[in-house]
Amino acid sequence: MSDVPHLTLNNGVQIPQLGFGVWQVPPDQAAESVRLALDAGYRHIDTAAAYGNEEGVGQAIRDSGVAREDVFVTTKLWNADHGRAGEAFDVSLRKLGLDYVDLYLIHWPRPDQDRYVEAYRAMEKKLSEGRARAIGVSNFHQPHLEKLLENTDVVPAVNQIELHPGFPQEELRAFNAQHGILTEAWSPLGQGKGLLEDPQLTKIAGEVGRTPAQTVLRWHIQLGNIVFPKSVTPSRIRENLEVFDFELTDDQMAAISALPGGRIGANPETATF
Ligand code: NAD
Repeated sequence: MSDVPHLTLNNGVQIPQLGFGVWQVPPDQAAESVRLALDAGYRHIDTAAAYGNEEGVGQAIRDSGVAREDVFVTTKLWNADHGRAGEAFDVSLRKLGLDYVDLYLIHWPRPDQDRYVEAYRAMEKKLSEGRARAIGVSNFHQPHLEKLLENTDVVPAVNQIELHPGFPQEELRAFNAQHGILTEAWSPLGQGKGLLEDPQLTKIAGEVGRTPAQTVLRWHIQLGNIVFPKSVTPSRIRENLEVFDFELTDDQMAAISALPGGRIGANPETATF
């Protein structure tokens, strides 16, 4: 069982710094993948209503024998539901088959809809009722966060954003930190493809005697990011957890930060899905 450190959210709740992401894990594979992850020692699962696999995630947690309070579960409000966040939250909880979630996020701000303040207000109510232990946002840029901070009472516990070598999001990380908002890095491995074959990264991985994926995850951990790499391959699920027994030097950290790349996913400012 690996020793994943915990970080403390701005309301005192503890979150394992490394978890397991299930985007694109098909619904009929979700229970098996989450079971493998829990067996390997993961205690933090990141899902979303939009992933269509909340039932499998919840089933794996309930069947695992791991105490509910020992697993940190995040799910997210989908974009079409900003005007009915309370009901959408209840549906997610029902699909998960849980009494509460640890973290509930607005998945995307969708500034064109301009309903995220209304959604967050409904989430504050779930927080006060103890149905969510913490609430936060995802894909929020500084102007979206500023508007939310001005118009709501609870500072988001996290902002979950695309972040990986080649797209280190330094300004947004700094803004989050200034406001006591922890940064969660989505697609922490840059979705695997080009990044993990980069020759500079491969060289550094050789220096520390680790795989490129472990080296990238270690970079995130040392930056203070929360990560939840996704894999359905048992050996990789285990490999991605083994990142707490080595360290990158300052020079190695800087070299990884400077790798080429850029945004892979949608731009939150213009996304219309
Ligand atoms: P990721 O960066 O975790 O990459 C996953 C891919 O990398 C896998 O499909 C596999 O091909 C490869 N991989 C994984 N482990 C490997 C290893 N050890 N060696 C070699 N290759 C490996 O990408 P992701 O799934 O996009 O992101 C992780 C999680 O972030 C998601 O599952 C989800 O929970 C979250 N996420 C959130 C948002 C959002 O809008 N909030 C968007 C995307 C992802």
